[in-house]
Amino acid sequence: MTHDEIMQQDQQYIIGTYARYPVVLSHGKNATLYDIDGTEYIDFMSGIGVNALGAADEEWINAVTESLHKISHISNYYYSPNTCKTAQKLVELSGMNKVFFGNSGAEANEGAIKTARKYSFDKYGENRSTIISLVNSFHGRTITTLAATGQDDMHKFFYPFTEGFKYAPLNDIDKLNEILTPDVCAILAEPIQGEGGVNIMTDEYAIQLRKICDDNDLVLIFDEIQTGIARTGKMFAYEHFGFKPDIMTLAKGLGGGLPIGVFVVGEKCEKVLGLFHHGTTFGANPVIVSGAYNVLSRVSQPEFLNEVCEKGKYIRQKIAEMKIPIVKEIRGKGLMIGIQIDGTPKDYTKKGAANGLLLLTAGTDVIRMLPPLTITYDEIDKGLSIFKGVIS
Ligand SMILES: *Cc1c(COP(=O)(O)O)cnc(C)c1O
Repeated sequence: MTHDEIMQQDQQYIIGTYARYPVVLSHGKNATLYDIDGTEYIDFMSGIGVNALGAADEEWINAVTESLHKISHISNYYYSPNTCKTAQKLVELSGMNKVFFGNSGAEANEGAIKTARKYSFDKYGENRSTIISLVNSFHGRTITTLAATGQDDMHKFFYPFTEGFKYAPLNDIDKLNEILTPDVCAILAEPIQGEGGVNIMTDEYAIQLRKICDDNDLVLIFDEIQTGIARTGKMFAYEHFGFKPDIMTLAKGLGGGLPIGVFVVGEKCEKVLGLFHHGTTFGANPVIVSGAYNVLSRVSQPEFLNEVCEKGKYIRQKIAEMKIPIVKEIRGKGLMIGIQIDGTPKDYTKKGAANGLLLLTAGTDVIRMLPPLTITYDEIDKGLSIFKGVIS
């Protein structure tokens, strides 16, 4: 089939919730992808931060297929060695205590929200269930995670939304204190807002959040669905701040390309969920957790994390050197990069796609880059050269 036939088929049979770029991707190797006619694309978005190890990574494929050849699904009614060892790995790497395996980011956040509310209910009873999240956050597309998302645009059509959320602007501790009423049980935040514009939480603000949660016995939930799994040059972005959250959610990069979402709890919430309080059919799938184990073992190596930092610095520096008039700010940590522009990001991501470079947007005025963590300098240079042409 041709590009046009496939796009036509998509339009006819798939619900139109996405304005796709006119590119029909077929295969690739690391950060170099190809469409069905063999046209090359440099991947600066890794399927929205999912393909942490790039496309078709041999070691990851072996881990997944070895597991697939044994059994494709078990259910949570029986023990699985792959699942246990992946949970142990997550606990060891995070310094937190226990893990719940689900299937997506939104689901991980749902689990985190349930845990935070039950923590409060068990200790303080009803009427202490409000969660403060941040303006311009993004936490998912289910009814509850839409409510948790601090963007008015997301609070339309699908009424009634889950109650009990209020929003404070990022990096403004006074505004947060203003809405900190006795009904609040938790604070939910991304260490760097991804979809909202690659907005970085300052260290001072983060430390204040931790303190407010400690002083008021609130549950601090970090949504690390985009920032986790080495994306920012640390295994988890909270490591930049020097303290742990009470609950952390992970998804995107964790599976290396397969769907997974987990929430990890520290000591405070370790015993909140017990028998029958939560569940999932697909979660902890042995094939997917085998892929996740491979990702975790590799991206957590100090040399690997160092490379992520270096590549991120290199990209930010090269873009700064381009001295592009419309670029207002280049920000980010590791390989999570935002380029704030005077203009419409989509114009440039479209041009990128037409010229062989896959990019993302964020917020209203940011071009976002989330390349595979394994991207080579050769691929980076190729991508940056296309970027320069597109943005100049
Ligand atoms: C992508 C994302 C989600 C939602 O994940 P899904 O897998 O799409 O449900 C939630 N929070 C953050 C920070 C994200 O980047």
